[in-house]
Amino acid sequence: MVYTLGIDIGSTTSKCCLIDENREIVGTSLIKSGTGTRGPEKAMEAIEKESGIKKEDTAKIIVTGYGRKNFDGDGDMSELSCHAKGMKFLFPDVRTIIDIGGQDSKVMKLSEDGKLLTFLMNDKCAAGTGRFLDVMAGILGMDIDELSETALLSDTPAKISSTCTVFAESEVISRLSSGTAIPDLVAGICESVATKVSSLVKRVGVMEKVCMSGGVAKNAGVRRAIENNLDIKLYHSELSQLAGALGAALSAMDKYEKENA
Ligand code: ADP
Repeated sequence: MVYTLGIDIGSTTSKCCLIDENREIVGTSLIKSGTGTRGPEKAMEAIEKESGIKKEDTAKIIVTGYGRKNFDGDGDMSELSCHAKGMKFLFPDVRTIIDIGGQDSKVMKLSEDGKLLTFLMNDKCAAGTGRFLDVMAGILGMDIDELSETALLSDTPAKISSTCTVFAESEVISRLSSGTAIPDLVAGICESVATKVSSLVKRVGVMEKVCMSGGVAKNAGVRRAIENNLDIKLYHSELSQLAGALGAALSAMDKYEKENA
């Protein structure tokens, strides 16, 4: 059996995905530390442990993500290409991908056969990214997954009017002291991220099926707010955060097959 490995070294997490020649996912790993740390090595160790397949037993390794240039593989690929490939594999009829990671957000539009037609990215401002949610979770003393659950308890999100993360931080602290209900505040925080990302989607033009990749796909509050903003059904998968690593593993298998045809 031939195996290939995809590694996605992000700003906050390192992810690995191992596939076999039938394009079955053999193992995945996710370590909560990203580029510039031992995260990538730890993610490789974790996948070795889970699958029993060693790095030396893989035919090819493709690296993607923010930290891809610092890791020695058999090649690297852009996050856009890898997310597009991974999401097309998970959702064959996807046409728009919303990828919200720890440090940026991207919207990609694909052709029917999965080619990247156009994209827009926000990597200039923490608002509209996972970073905004992480900072707010810190202020509220919550884990990031608690933030997601709490948002769903509210039907009346508090409006966060500051667009800047630093000012929004002060606004949330002041709302806390004035007694705004925590679920309303959390739903408002999710709404704020959703509004920024939805405006990127509108600029690209909404084309269904719309699917979410990146770690923030785990946040049900953000997903619900995007669905309401765009009036669409938004799809995601348990593997959404691993879509980049999956795309890299699939590209590595394509490359191996091409070279050995
Ligand atoms: P990167 O590749 O830049 O490291 P990821 O795509 O891994 O980013 O996404 C990281 C973000 O995902 C975090 O900033 C956090 O907001 C969000 N996230 C991670 N795990 C969860 C979870 N269990 N519930 C909700 N959000 C999560």
